[in-house]
Amino acid sequence: MKKHNFSAGPCILPEEVLQQASKAVIDFNNDDLSLLEISHRSKPFVDVIENAKLLTLELLGLENKGYQVLFLHGGASTQFLMTAYNLLNKKAAYLNTGTWSDKAIKEAKLFGDLVEVASSKDKNFTYIPKNYNIPNDVDYFHCTSNNTIFGTQIKEFPTLGTPLICDMSSDIFSRQLDFSKFDLLYAGAQKNMGPAGTTVVVVKEEILGKVERTIPSMLNYKTHIGKESMFNTPAVFPIYVSMLTLEWLKDLGGISFIEKVNNKKADLLYKEIDRNPLFRGIVAKEDRSIMNATFSLIDESLTNRFDSLWKEARINGLNGHRSVGGYRASMYNALPLFSVQALVDTMQELERKA
Ligand SMILES: *Cc1c(COP(=O)(O)O)cnc(C)c1O
Repeated sequence: MKKHNFSAGPCILPEEVLQQASKAVIDFNNDDLSLLEISHRSKPFVDVIENAKLLTLELLGLENKGYQVLFLHGGASTQFLMTAYNLLNKKAAYLNTGTWSDKAIKEAKLFGDLVEVASSKDKNFTYIPKNYNIPNDVDYFHCTSNNTIFGTQIKEFPTLGTPLICDMSSDIFSRQLDFSKFDLLYAGAQKNMGPAGTTVVVVKEEILGKVERTIPSMLNYKTHIGKESMFNTPAVFPIYVSMLTLEWLKDLGGISFIEKVNNKKADLLYKEIDRNPLFRGIVAKEDRSIMNATFSLIDESLTNRFDSLWKEARINGLNGHRSVGGYRASMYNALPLFSVQALVDTMQELERKA
């Protein structure tokens, strides 16, 4: 039986997706060839990438609204610089809510003036700053919807007169939002969408083409839009597996369905963290992420005992990030409710035995 996989990324994928993907590695579409051996320009693969784009727009509710979907290389980390390269003329505003925002800010500084509108660094990123002002003379505002490492999540996004750009790597497709508020969003696939190796970018075409600098072809969104994500060889396998995962999500009932499941999982775990006298949550309650829950033992001398209990329960990937410590339970879309129940049972077992 498969382990309960709370890994933060790369992370759990649906069992049926893994089955279908492994079959395609040997024989894709019953054509006696592997998916990995066929041309990315052949019809069977073009159908895959087209379907992945359509599913992305459909699930996000962004069809016919002027958005383009790209599947690019280089991870979300390349988007930190690509967004600035393509959109930052003079000045941009950033909200700093953790390690990933910090990295995005560092890259963007290479291209213009940065206004850090607010930061939660003063309390090791354990909350989401609110009531900050965004200057209206900036080229765009950038934020990180879910802070994978610290376990905080933005619940409300500002309405702006300037483009809104968001790193949604760890919570895309997990909850309903008005996605049309965003002019560009991006996500490394390996958190809530597929395997590592491709990054989805959803961009409103009208915001492009406004910077004065020359942009190298590979880093220019317009290049990839013009060539339909085929300017160079796309990551065929990660795109295929992402497509399967999006199909799986659509068949389940889409984002509105999975959001209910995700809320149920998060409620179950956070209730136990708050109830169990041995544990405490790490971040501000109102900013808790439904994807990544961070918590710790109040008495650290119980660490070895708890660690062996959850390992015996066949739980994987529960250690917190080195910059936070404690534990982090990542509850991405494909994690079943019974895995969260297994973790809660383990926490209660520790309480009985401690
Ligand atoms: C993991 C992660 C990244 C980095 O993604 P890569 O694809 O490894 O570059 C960026 N932002 C967030 C929010 C993440 O969780």
